[in-house]
Amino acid sequence: MTEVVQAPDRADERELKRISHWIGGRIVPGESGRSGPVYNPALGVQTAEVDFASAEEVGRAVAAAKEAFPAWRATSLSQRQDILFRIREFVHDRREEIAKFLTDEHGKVFSDALGEVQRGLEVVEHVCGIPTLLRGSFSEQASTGFDVYSIRQPLGVAAGITPFNFPAMVPMWMWAPALACGNTFVLKPSEKDPSASIYTAELLKEAGVPDGVFNVVHGDKVAVDALLEHPDVAAISFVGSTPIARYVYETATSRGKRCQALGGAKNHMIVLPDADIDMAADAAVSAAYGSAGERCMAVSMVVAVGDVADPLIAAIKDRIPRVKVGDGMDTSSEMGPLITREHREKVASYVEKAPQEGATVVVDGRDGAPDDGFFLGPSLLDNVAPEMDNYRDEIFGPVLGVTRVSTYDEAVRLVNENPYGNGTAIFTRDGGVARQFQFEVQAGMVGINVPIPVPVAYYSFGGWKNSLFGDRHIYGPEGIDFYTRSKVVTSRWPDPATSKVDLGFPQTR
Ligand code: NAD
Repeated sequence: MTEVVQAPDRADERELKRISHWIGGRIVPGESGRSGPVYNPALGVQTAEVDFASAEEVGRAVAAAKEAFPAWRATSLSQRQDILFRIREFVHDRREEIAKFLTDEHGKVFSDALGEVQRGLEVVEHVCGIPTLLRGSFSEQASTGFDVYSIRQPLGVAAGITPFNFPAMVPMWMWAPALACGNTFVLKPSEKDPSASIYTAELLKEAGVPDGVFNVVHGDKVAVDALLEHPDVAAISFVGSTPIARYVYETATSRGKRCQALGGAKNHMIVLPDADIDMAADAAVSAAYGSAGERCMAVSMVVAVGDVADPLIAAIKDRIPRVKVGDGMDTSSEMGPLITREHREKVASYVEKAPQEGATVVVDGRDGAPDDGFFLGPSLLDNVAPEMDNYRDEIFGPVLGVTRVSTYDEAVRLVNENPYGNGTAIFTRDGGVARQFQFEVQAGMVGINVPIPVPVAYYSFGGWKNSLFGDRHIYGPEGIDFYTRSKVVTSRWPDPATSKVDLGFPQTR
């Protein structure tokens, strides 16, 4: 049985707070009359009520961003860089405050929440180099007396719609490059854990971001649709589940907006017979159960090749009881609760149904999980097959499935035939096979003996197939591309005496 850490007494936090919008540099209370609950998932109690924006309120945020755009895009690169460096310092200095919001509202353990802030901060650090990142190109004397050069310019008002599982990092992946490139921004964070984005808004203001450059509207489909339909929103970045990502992409692009929509995942970790079993088991447990499996890069399927299955499953099973499940603010906890009671029930139902579908429940996470709060312990399923619901669906919880295959080719086929293509990993000591895997596997992010291959900030993050709609990945070079458009200038400074009418097509020689 998994070890359970008792929740500390945090009754003082049970007073309900109100979370409102941030428009034009100040808190703006909601007027729609609609709102939703925010929970502390470790305690299982509601701690806040968040306002849901109407289309009209979203319109006010977009109007504030539109008004702020001309001055912000005209702000020199070195001034913007100054502000970005200040933001970097402020986020770094207040990382514990931000992480506390994440643990309180998402439930992830505090050390993991700090890790989330750090991976967001790395994107802020990358865009501190915006003068270099926005450098164009110049061709002197492209034709006699003509020079040609390219520049990149911001799009205008960009909007970000983000998921519950990374309430600080994923917004940072969007607003940092968007603002650095000279856009203004409207963020619609997840309604399940919205506090970090309001704290961020205050912090950006303190760092010198002018009013209206960064805005936050809370809400549900009403707010999202208002952003998708607003004629003054030029670009939409979305991260969330696949059905909503597809909807957002189709709606935004049909209205002429640029859109990148990152969706769900089913990440496979292939373990070959020559792999180091202990290393593979450590990686599988960390990547499957970290953040209670609520990561888009979580490993949810282990594909065990040949005779590696029995020792690998034994090694994983052996580690599970040592995973400490409990309140995220308790420093001894390693895995927190799930986001809501409904989600916990849904995840548990996959374990319940697994034997009827033909899978073997090796470890049942429903045993021994704390009752107060939305806890579920780690589960391990063996003999999982592609036609089972627990394989087909993105469970998004601490349930790891193992499927057994005979050969490397069968393993790769499983990954390539899967409709998702976010991350994948291979564990082996054979460099040749690893290289073949990287060559032929159909996924956007590949780990070789690395279970969660989230790219560093100067590369870009994104999946293939149903894990990404759109053609640009998020942050890194593709993030800069996404938030700018290029302009090519052809210029000459002729002697007026040489000017003449010429109706022929412009020649370059
Ligand atoms: P979600 O799709 O339910 O919600 C994401 C956002 O969309 C939220 O802001 C939400 O308010 C909004 N939304 C929800 N329903 C909507 C609707 N019907 N119309 C318009 N907007 C709607 O996702 P979630 O549950 O918050 O997050 C978990 C999902 O996000 C998982 O599928 C996970 O894999 C995915 N995710 C993907 C990545 C990635 O990089 N590919 C990263 C993190 C999370």
